Amino acid sequence: MNAWDQIKLSLAEKISTEAFQNWFADTRLQQADGDRISVLVPNEATKDWMEREYAESVHAAIRDLKLPIRQVSYEISSSAVTSNSHTDFSPAVTDSLFQSPVSQLNPKFTFDNFVVGSCNQFAHAAAKAVATMPSRSYNPLFIYGGVGMGKTHLIHAIGRSLVQNFGGMRIVYTTSERFMNQMINCIKLDRMPQFHQHFRSADVLLIDDVHILGGKERTQDEFFHTFNELYDHQKQIVISSDSSPKNIPGLVERLRSRFEWGLMVDVQPPDLETKMAILDKKSELEGIKLPEDVRIFLATKTKSNVRELEGALIRLIAYSSVSGGTINLAMAQQILKHLVHGPERRVTVEAVIRAVAERFSLQPSQIKQKTNEHRISYPRQIAMYLMKELTDASLPEIGRAFGGKHHTTVLHSVKKIEHLRLKDADLNRTIHSLIDSFN
Ligand code: ADP
Ligand code: MG
Repeated sequence: MNAWDQIKLSLAEKISTEAFQNWFADTRLQQADGDRISVLVPNEATKDWMEREYAESVHAAIRDLKLPIRQVSYEISSSAVTSNSHTDFSPAVTDSLFQSPVSQLNPKFTFDNFVVGSCNQFAHAAAKAVATMPSRSYNPLFIYGGVGMGKTHLIHAIGRSLVQNFGGMRIVYTTSERFMNQMINCIKLDRMPQFHQHFRSADVLLIDDVHILGGKERTQDEFFHTFNELYDHQKQIVISSDSSPKNIPGLVERLRSRFEWGLMVDVQPPDLETKMAILDKKSELEGIKLPEDVRIFLATKTKSNVRELEGALIRLIAYSSVSGGTINLAMAQQILKHLVHGPERRVTVEAVIRAVAERFSLQPSQIKQKTNEHRISYPRQIAMYLMKELTDASLPEIGRAFGGKHHTTVLHSVKKIEHLRLKDADLNRTIHSLIDSFN
């Protein structure tokens, strides 16, 4: 397999089928020359797109595959490569722009099915407010948080509720990836007026996963104009993203500042109580009742990600329905044994130091250094906090792990992080993901 085919294969796993068909399917290696390769593409639009929007992804794939390539150039092939993907550029694709929004909204993602806990109550309240009085309360509404925390669920719930309550309103829902692919199709088919018309005549635009626009300048440019047009006409915009605007790499400044104009709310990982409540809700929807011990088992053994929690429950239900057995703890332990890692694996002080050091790109020895430099002292405080939470080590023992810190210093650090964690969403997320890494 040549280098470009390897890159294509690696990208095929990372980007959507739609995007792959659009951009990569019709490309092939022209020649390789030392650390340079040139790639044949079918037309100017593809060349442009590869250079602007996919440069980063291609280079990431090269790094992942450890290929000795430093430069990739794109040449337009004189005899256009033919393949069945041409059908993708037919008007049918742009006509799908005009599909009714309801068909794109998952009927399960309603407000009724959304469990509210301390982790998501602000996001939920803001979503409700927008669904009740669009363009009045918060514009744009920017919802952000980690994977599987319910952002898409909330966006769909807003859409569905608007469709139900405001019949005449034009609601447009799209993912950022679709936005990008449709834009490209429209450019190719010379249908940009329809594209503009579609998005700019919306009364409410719901756009999911906007972080994927990071580094994609042409798409950001287009989105910028869409945003302005809608905003200037007081149309509601709701955006979701996996991180806050300032933390989206490659997001242009003018979009970042606009995203911050309205209300930004984050969804945090669910705490134990919320996980239990979500389990109750989902089992009720499935028409079953979970025994108490199974409920606790699922809530405590899964990571702080609702999608995973849901996945575990679904497997359990599927197994019980196929096998005809009733759900009990033994069955849950058997089916979900991947969630339980052998006999209680104790987290050690050294393991915490290693994990925290890695997260902050430091050496374990650096974290143990006696210095008050913030770059070192902050991760050190986090490590102390995690040791208190996850290991059996006493405060003096924790102090000794850091070259003999006094136990009151350790206690001070633990309290400080405990407190900060409540206010600082990014820190809280980091801690959750560190804790998950020990599970
Ligand atoms: P995200 O978009 O944040 O990655 P999703 O909205 O796709 O996450 O949520 C993943 C799954 O978890 C969905 O099936 C969703 O219904 C469910 N989910 C997430 N949060 C909640 C919640 N608070 N209540 C009920 N279900 C939830
Ligand atoms: Mg999502």
